[in-house]
Amino acid sequence: MSLKIAIDGPAGAGKSTIAKGLAKKLNAIYVDTGAMYRAIGLYVLRNGIDKNDEVAVVEAVSTINVSIVFEDGQQVVLLNGENVNGFIRTEEVGMMASGISGYAKVREKMVNLQRELAESTDVVMDGRDIGTVVLPNANPKIYLTASARVRAERRAAELEAKGEPADIDTIEKDIIDRDYADMHRAVSPLMKAEDAVEIDSSYMTIEEVQQAIIDLCK
Ligand code: C5P
Repeated sequence: MSLKIAIDGPAGAGKSTIAKGLAKKLNAIYVDTGAMYRAIGLYVLRNGIDKNDEVAVVEAVSTINVSIVFEDGQQVVLLNGENVNGFIRTEEVGMMASGISGYAKVREKMVNLQRELAESTDVVMDGRDIGTVVLPNANPKIYLTASARVRAERRAAELEAKGEPADIDTIEKDIIDRDYADMHRAVSPLMKAEDAVEIDSSYMTIEEVQQAIIDLCK
């Protein structure tokens, strides 16, 4: 039986760092589903589409192609064939992704793609609705959290490491706003699956969190 690990949780809880390392240790592929919504957010941004105009967003999404390929074990997100990995990590694109991710038709297209990716391989997948919607049979399911302040500090450190300016208070506010939107949208809101194990990573190292998940796999 193949291994399916679902990691959900709010922005900046450490999901991708944890999931990426875990996939490597377990020889599974890592699928970052947020990157797929970010690619759509980038498209909407580049084309000046109003994120609040559901009809326009859904129409645009029906014509574009978002896909994922793996190069040297790294996930590459292709938007109409273009590698957009270098453009999707900004707060602006994150907010845009959050804005368009509430539309049912957008989610339907992404969920189908995510299920296909997980079909025939061991996978560690992270996002907001993996344990609740995308892979309901995943085991284990993790709900990874951390305090908003700690999450903002981590994001700021990431940005500073890249030489980009970072104001912790602004980042914390953006994180709180994005969590609120993700938890209160009508379609597939972020929530802990009934059978998910909650891990608060605020005061845990990456290794400790990964080990806790590996223990749950046994
Ligand atoms: O995880 P990341 O911060 O890259 O996700 C960007 C946005 O994409 C989230 O704020 C959320 O609105 C959306 N998302 C989602 N479902 C997922 C993954 C991400 O709605 N499975």
